[in-house]
Amino acid sequence: MARVAIVTGGTRGIGEAISLALQAEGMTVAANYGGDDAKAAGFTARTGIKAYKWNVADHQACLDGVKQVEADLGPVDVLVNNAGITRDGTLLKMTYEMWREVMDVNLGGCFNMAKAVFAGMRQRGFGRIVSIGSINGQGGQYGQVNYAAAKSGIHGFTKALAQEGARAGITVNAIAPGYIDTDMVAAVPADVLEKIVAKIPVGRLGKASEIARGVVFLTGEDAGFITGSTLSLNGGQHMY
Ligand code: NDP
Repeated sequence: MARVAIVTGGTRGIGEAISLALQAEGMTVAANYGGDDAKAAGFTARTGIKAYKWNVADHQACLDGVKQVEADLGPVDVLVNNAGITRDGTLLKMTYEMWREVMDVNLGGCFNMAKAVFAGMRQRGFGRIVSIGSINGQGGQYGQVNYAAAKSGIHGFTKALAQEGARAGITVNAIAPGYIDTDMVAAVPADVLEKIVAKIPVGRLGKASEIARGVVFLTGEDAGFITGSTLSLNGGQHMY
């Protein structure tokens, strides 16, 4: 039986590349998304991968969404927590809503989705959970106390849950991407982006497919000894 994978935010950007890469590995993939119906419809038409709309910040919506995926495709073996947003601003300018929204989607979403799949994985004795953190969760970033805190939280979440899943065949890992060429980075002003690229040793932005490669590695059948780790995929920008 093909493994069933859910990729949150799986219809565009890094998530789209992850959905495609897991499909290429022979998995049956469900791509979740938050609101962009047109992008999701285009994605499904191009790839044949079913798209499911729910807000990962909404706990009950995650439980219901996973139930629906399991009814359609079967029990979920692989969860990729990829959905994420930015609401940038210095602390002085950041509103409580900007803080809350980023925490709820980026970090709360990981909790909500893990809650929805973990018991089933434990029962079946197999699971792969990969959450997408960020270089800015490792090193911080000016104007991103919300995002850096949420992403840093993902790395702690991963290490704790890895301990809970280890005896049940569930591995839990994170990937910390550097700057990747997606809509999220397109929102960064050109002059700021130029300065960022100048600091990347490989001399360019990363590609979404280069993050997907890490997810394939961590979700493989033979990846059972890799758990609680964070894989840094950043072109050499952050090495400690
Ligand atoms: P994009 O903005 O290109 O895509 C984000 C995806 O997440 C979309 O599919 C979007 O759905 C979905 N999404 C957003 N909010 C929600 C929500 N509340 N519920 C469900 N789905 C939601 O992002 P990227 O591909 O650039 O980033 C993917 C992940 O990688 C994020 O976690 C990001 O923080 C992280 N990352 C990205 C980096 C980069 O350089 N791009 C660097 C480091 C980390 P919809 O299409 O419906 O809006």
